[in-house]
Amino acid sequence: MATNSEQKRVLITGGAGFLGSHLCDRFLAEGYHVIAMDNLITGDLANIEHLFGKESFEFHHADVSKFVFVPGKLDYILHFASPASPIDYLKIPIQTLKVGSLGTHNLLGLARVKGARMLIASTSEVYGDPEIHPQVEEYFGNVNPVGPRGCYDEAKRFQEAITMAYHNHHGLETRIVRIFNTYGPRMRLNDGRVLPAFLSQALRGENLTVFGDGSQTRSFCYVDDLVEGIYRLLLSDYALPVNIGNPDEITIKEFGEEIAKLMNVEFKPTYQELPQNDPMKRKPDITKAREILGWEPKVDRAEGLRRTLEYFKEHVQVAAAGQVN
Ligand code: NAD
Repeated sequence: MATNSEQKRVLITGGAGFLGSHLCDRFLAEGYHVIAMDNLITGDLANIEHLFGKESFEFHHADVSKFVFVPGKLDYILHFASPASPIDYLKIPIQTLKVGSLGTHNLLGLARVKGARMLIASTSEVYGDPEIHPQVEEYFGNVNPVGPRGCYDEAKRFQEAITMAYHNHHGLETRIVRIFNTYGPRMRLNDGRVLPAFLSQALRGENLTVFGDGSQTRSFCYVDDLVEGIYRLLLSDYALPVNIGNPDEITIKEFGEEIAKLMNVEFKPTYQELPQNDPMKRKPDITKAREILGWEPKVDRAEGLRRTLEYFKEHVQVAAAGQVN
């Protein structure tokens, strides 16, 4: 692979996933050599097919929980490999725990050997069903380790702990981003999360499925904003966790009404029982991101949903023709 020695090299695990693929795009646009690594367990090569053939891009098909090897120098590692939606991690709980624990350990080892800075994708789920609102980074969380979501939440909490241990004990350069619900093109239509579920149900003319009474809240961040926050955090000198998300909070019922209005259909909800340990409130306090990174979200929900809808329209049609999902 032709790379010049000046060019910075970044390894992005989970590079064929929703967020990882957008990160690949961003780092290539910034002039980096990008190595995407993925075992495709929840990802899709379609997300990065536009990058194949580019001189500064390579793809490694590998399971980071087993063993990680990358030839040549590495300046940065972004560890984004992990099932991320409940539908996925409930199906593959052991792999989820392994990629957060063994995978992170393998990558921290690689970062040490290469002298690379490592950023991990943590999550608002480390706060569990939060007792304080909005969530600040100092909050320790309210997680049920043996509940159905424990495999994901505890994998991420362990991931943060081992990353801080490498930072404190080995002096490794590390960064921790706590990502709140993010959306945009390349989300899977059927990943079970509320935003793709509502959009694809509305596109198919179906009722929208609302869990519980719909009074639980979420705060949705558009993917380009998230990527900007991650980019700034990586290049900052701040090693403690930073929330990146959009604090514009909405109840699920209001969100359903908003989607119905956007798509010019009547809001007809079908209510289903709330899943166990589902967080009732979710809103990031982004004071740290504002102060340390000079970051705040720029894309409002109306604009973000319009951009996402374009992508979903194409994919719902393809799915209807039996080609995907
Ligand atoms: P995704 O499922 O689209 O992407 C994850 C990618 O990781 C997939 O391509 C999958 O194949 C790959 N992967 C999983 N296990 C692997 C392994 N053992 N080895 C190699 N590759 C593996 O999910 P996403 O939404 O893009 O999430 C990416 C990261 O961001 C995850 O770590 C997730 O926990 C975190 N995160 C996402 C959100 C969000 O709103 N999307 C919120 C909080 C945190």
